[in-house]
Amino acid sequence: MSTQETINWAAKAVEITFPTQAIINGKSVDSVSGKTATVFNPATGKALAQVADCTPDDADIAVGYARASYESGVWSQQSPQARKKVLLRWVELIEEHADELALLESLNAGKPISDTCNVDIPGAITTLRWTAEAIDKVYDEIAPTAPNTLALINRMPLGIVLAIVPWNFPLSTTAWKLAPSLATGNSVILKPDPKTPFTALRIAQLAIEAGLPDGVLQVLPGDGANLGKHLSLHPDIDGQTFTGSTAVGKLLTEYSAKSNLKRTFLELGGKSANIVFADADLDKAAEMAAVAGFYNSGQTCTAGTRLLIEESIYDEFLEKVAHYTRQWVPADPLDPGSNMGPVIDQRQLDTIQSYIKIGLEEGARLLCGGNVVASEQGGFFHEPTVFADVNNDMRIAREEIFGPVVSAIPFKDVDDAIRIANDSPYGLAGAVWSRNINTAHKVAAAVRTGTMGVNNYFGGDITVPFGGFKESGNGRDKSLHAMHDYTELKTIWIELD
Ligand code: NAD
Repeated sequence: MSTQETINWAAKAVEITFPTQAIINGKSVDSVSGKTATVFNPATGKALAQVADCTPDDADIAVGYARASYESGVWSQQSPQARKKVLLRWVELIEEHADELALLESLNAGKPISDTCNVDIPGAITTLRWTAEAIDKVYDEIAPTAPNTLALINRMPLGIVLAIVPWNFPLSTTAWKLAPSLATGNSVILKPDPKTPFTALRIAQLAIEAGLPDGVLQVLPGDGANLGKHLSLHPDIDGQTFTGSTAVGKLLTEYSAKSNLKRTFLELGGKSANIVFADADLDKAAEMAAVAGFYNSGQTCTAGTRLLIEESIYDEFLEKVAHYTRQWVPADPLDPGSNMGPVIDQRQLDTIQSYIKIGLEEGARLLCGGNVVASEQGGFFHEPTVFADVNNDMRIAREEIFGPVVSAIPFKDVDDAIRIANDSPYGLAGAVWSRNINTAHKVAAAVRTGTMGVNNYFGGDITVPFGGFKESGNGRDKSLHAMHDYTELKTIWIELD
């Protein structure tokens, strides 16, 4: 039995302290207005804490400190080794507080405690450590110019980076943004989603304890339409990095154009195709089709929400999918045996229910699920749901539902599978299941998407880039490629005597 299974998480939850203040210039502070917003537990619908609700006034103060810290060189001009030392100390502190962070994330986002213990917190630690360790091992370039010139191609920090992150993977996305932006010497303003501010605030407190200089990292909890928009329009912010919906990603691009053309990197929505051929290991593919659809209650941008199945095995395969779907049972996230928590709030539950109705009206067949469940405690739980007999023109196949709903679509052959997979405004993830390497590779290469699994789903780690094609975005998180989004290339051309 692992340690996390022996911990009484419910008892710990009663005693936990929630970080409730913003972080500005190395200090925990209330918002200027003194206003707070209530943060809820999606598993119970009950309030967890009142958290600083920052406004444009706080934003302007935070940007001022970020600019001052950047210009002072206290971080931006430090040697990579010195920055690495602080970042690695920070990682140690995060590791020491792993249980606390896992509990905060579970209470706040409704994620099963086994996921936060085994995936979210270790993932964030790996991201920060791997990136910190890389920074004194990455070299700049010297161009192949004539002997009487020396052309240096350097990577310079952008300056002030704005990071806006969502509620579905609050700590993971925070780590993906903070690791490369801080490692490359920027000063950062982080705006978590107002529904899920706790782990971002807590790790920022630990960053200060680790010795990150004042003003290098500010965390401002607050809404998008007011605070987020103001920051994104801010003329003294040099770059913005975002994970969230495609609609808001388009707004940020517009705000950049209307202000100072701040560099804009976006990780957006998806409607990924999980493509199963008749010659695949069908049991494994069916088991993973359920994982791809229902992990994190389907609130995963990379979810395999379009399940494309070769016609000849359509019914047989769907029986297997139904079997594995029954293994996903919405339950108390603090139970270490739980694999599926609630969705984030009533609004998300309503959205999912409206798509169930739309799917039925469009003529799709409900193979399993479709209902709100376990609502007695006030939580927002939804059954894992599979629609059969879907065609790719239906709204449930085109629009991101962001809940545990999979749409099963039949296809004829390789070309048909590729055509359907690519018939989407999105291009974030996906997978192909086949024992034939020619089929698998042809499909994997042809689907226009940022990540494609072959005989797996959700594959990848910190060593590989993550991001989207088309309306799924343009930036890349993770790997050394992420550094690109937080730096400018600068040429220094030296004429020699
Ligand atoms: P959202 O876009 O509404 O919110 C994301 C963040 O943007 C929040 O912090 C929010 O406060 C902020 N925001 C909202 N309006 C803003 C505005 N006008 N200006 C500035 N900031 C604003 O998305 P969500 O509902 O929180 O998250 C779900 C969506 O995110 C889904 O569509 C999902 O696919 C996508 N997502 C994508 C990835 C990825 O890596 N590609 C990862 C996670 C989630």
